[in-house]
Amino acid sequence: MKKIAVVILLLTVITGLCACSSAEPESDKLTVITTIFPPYDFARQICGDKAEVLQLLPLGGESHSYEPTAKDIIAISNCDLFIYNGGESDAWVEEILNSLDTPIKTLKMTDTVTALKEEYVDGMQTEEHDHDHNHDSHDVGYDEHIWTSPENAVKIAVAICNEIAGIDTENSKYYTDNTEALVNELYRLDSDFTDFFGTVENKLLIFGDRFPFRYFADRYSLRYFAAFPGCSDETEPSAATAAFLIEKIKSEKVGCIYYIEFSNHAVADTLAEDTGIETAMLHSCHNITKAEFDSGCTYISLMRQNLETLEKTMK
Ligand SMILES: [Zn+2]
Repeated sequence: MKKIAVVILLLTVITGLCACSSAEPESDKLTVITTIFPPYDFARQICGDKAEVLQLLPLGGESHSYEPTAKDIIAISNCDLFIYNGGESDAWVEEILNSLDTPIKTLKMTDTVTALKEEYVDGMQTEEHDHDHNHDSHDVGYDEHIWTSPENAVKIAVAICNEIAGIDTENSKYYTDNTEALVNELYRLDSDFTDFFGTVENKLLIFGDRFPFRYFADRYSLRYFAAFPGCSDETEPSAATAAFLIEKIKSEKVGCIYYIEFSNHAVADTLAEDTGIETAMLHSCHNITKAEFDSGCTYISLMRQNLETLEKTMK
């Protein structure tokens, strides 16, 4: 659509025809494509009815193993704005962008915040210990889960707004108004987390799972221990990792062990059973299920659900 519009515009300019085409076709909306859920959610709120916003990752799909289909690549090449995260999980993006004949407008989310190195805290199961794995030099990259800090979510939302308002200048006020409403809610969320953690004595999270909450923990000065790093595909903790976490649960008098969405929570269950504590899910918002989508889930509703869970399980 965009290309056709550009061609028509060029023809109009070149031939000096008067602009008798006041009626823009309905279908000539902006198209915004995102890889994962948080920017999808922000973009749809910012764009309202002025754009079609699409998420590439299928609902319920695992973002770390996502690979674009031919249809996805065509959609990307035709969109007005493509928003991607820029981490390890979408390493495929740059290659596709480089292969496009006509470059498209893109927003790389990790460029909008201060990226932190992925951290390997004590006890974490890393690939170095797994000798069946291929050893492509295990250098620690940037942690890609930037959106788990509401403060970063604000920066991402503002960057999305700037891009869209720059493309569709006529409606820029509409986009900035929508963004202001969203940002106000994100700030409220952020201050509610700050208030809550201010009441918590032992600001320690123990995950019997991957830990994609590095930025969240950083924002609220939380300590953490976890079975695996953020994007690890490992599911079996070593005996040493399990023993380390059990010791921490006991010595720190932790009442709950956490797992993430789309996880079978087997590790958390086992550790909880061994130590007699409870388990709870914290949603890292990579993606949502069809049921969550149908019920109107947003980044903010998922993070508020996390806040409620933390209020019940952290003392
Ligand atoms: Zn991840």
